[in-house]
Parts: sequence; structure tokens; C-alpha cells
Amino acid sequence: AAMKIPLATDCIDLAFEGDAFIVTRQMYGGKVNVRAVLRKSESYMVTVRQAAFQAQKPPVPMNGQIEEIPSPLTEEITTKRFIEYVLPPPGGVDITAAEVLVGIGRGIKDQSNIPLVEELAKSLGGVLACSRPIVDKGWLPSDRQVGTSGKTVKPKLYIALGISGAFQHVLGMKNSDLIIAVNKDPKAPIFSFSDYGVVEDLFKIVPVLKNKISELKTQKA
Ligand SMILES: Cc1cc2nc3c(=O)[nH]c(=O)nc-3n(C[C@H](O)[C@H](O)[C@H](O)COP(=O)(O)OP(=O)(O)OC[C@H]3O[C@@H](n4cnc5c(N)ncnc54)[C@H](O)[C@@H]3O)c2cc1C
Repeated sequence: AAMKIPLATDCIDLAFEGDAFIVTRQMYGGKVNVRAVLRKSESYMVTVRQAAFQAQKPPVPMNGQIEEIPSPLTEEITTKRFIEYVLPPPGGVDITAAEVLVGIGRGIKDQSNIPLVEELAKSLGGVLACSRPIVDKGWLPSDRQVGTSGKTVKPKLYIALGISGAFQHVLGMKNSDLIIAVNKDPKAPIFSFSDYGVVEDLFKIVPVLKNKISELKTQKA
């Protein structure tokens, strides 16, 4: 405000159309995308939503320096405080504590296919997590949902099976140590956030993976 330049926060897209600077932001909890034209100015200030843009390598090496500026605030800020740690309900699973998560999405097609992927998760010593549509259908409880309206997870391994990679999901798992995605659509956004990607039908890949894991376990025994 002090600089008197237009400001737009939490943008998911930015574009110049002619000399009009257009930002896209979400409203109503992400149900509506709003394109807004900022008042013309020499400079603009925008902040972007986490994971909305792919980081680009600069065309030339940048020599920017980090300048540390001490905060002018001296008093303790009390807008955030720890209230209590809520344990999952008895029999529930705390996916935020799991080292291995097998995340399933709409690509799983039917509830009857869940035991197949649950076996895979168990064979890896992990548990099942999921995208929101799986919870909406009532196929898994809400404590398994990963994403902006679910849990944020950071397991050692996250296997995404039949998950498209909507940003609401990605924001909840993109910091996992290793991400492997299986999706039959080569253009699925999840691949941009994955360390390894398999473009294939998950129902072909899961049995092969399970066999390989039990083979390796037998060799070790
Ligand atoms: C306010 C709001 C909050 C939200 N919060 C969350 C949230 O917390 N978490 C969340 O996950 N979503 C959330 N969503 C929903 C989100 O926008 C997406 O709709 C959702 O993540 C999509 O789930 P999906 O990837 O399972 O399904 P889809 O987007 O339908 O993707 C299914 C994928 O499966 C692939 N596929 C299909 N069949 C196969 C097969 N046989 N083998 C391999 N791949 C296959 C397809 O190619 C596709 O990419 C939210 C939405 C809103 C509006």
C-alpha cells in the first residue's frame, strides 16, 4: 500500500493481454476462477499460490544476494497458539505419520478394487491414502484424504495410482521424499510433481509391482 502499486495475492495464473495485466484467482473455496484486470501501472505486486507454477531455470545465472532484514516486531504474536494434539479415532489411521503411502484416485474405478491396492500398500509396510472423490464416494474414511481439505503428508514414498494431480491434491503431498505416479494419461499433471512416472493402466502395474516385491522379500529371507 505504501508503494501505491496494484496488488493481487494467491494468483494461480498471470498474463499480459495487450497492455492489460490479468491475474487469475480462486473464490468460494476454489469453485470459481476469477480473471481480474489490474489497474494500469508501471509496476505490479503479485503473490502466487504454492505449486501453481512450475519453477523455471533462469536463462542466465542470477547473482541475487539474500539480504537479511530484522523484523521490526518485538512483541510475541499471539494469533496462533497450540491448543491440543488430536489423535485419530480408534481404528483410524494417521496418514501423516506413515512412511509409505499408496494414494488412490478416481482411476481405481470401483470400491471392489481397493483390496488389490491395500495389499500393495501392506506389502510395502504402508497404508492407503486417497484423493477427495474417493472419500466423497464413501470408499475410504475422510482421515485418508490428502490435500487442501484433507491432510498434508510427507512420507518417504508416495505412490499415486489413478490420481490426476489437481492442485488441491498436490498441495497435500508434493513434499513427499519420493513420488511415483501411475496414470494412463501421459498429460496428467501429477507427472510434473513425480520423481518417477509410469504411463500405464494401474491394473496392469499393481500386480507386477506386488509380485516383484514378494520376489524381493523371498530372496532376502
Ligand atoms: C474446495 C475444494 C477442495 C478440494 N480439496 C481436495 C483435497 O483436499 N484433496 C483432493 O484430492 N481433491 C480435492 N479437491 C478436488 C480436486 O479438485 C480434484 O477434483 C480431485 O483431486 C481429483 O481427484 P482424482 O485425481 O482422484 O480424480 P480425477 O481428476 O478424475 O483423475 C483420475 C485420474 O485417473 C486416471 N486413470 C483413470 N483410469 C486409470 C487406470 N486404469 N490406470 C491409471 N490411471 C487411470 C485418469 O487418467 C485421471 O488422471 C477439492 C476441490 C475443491 C473445489
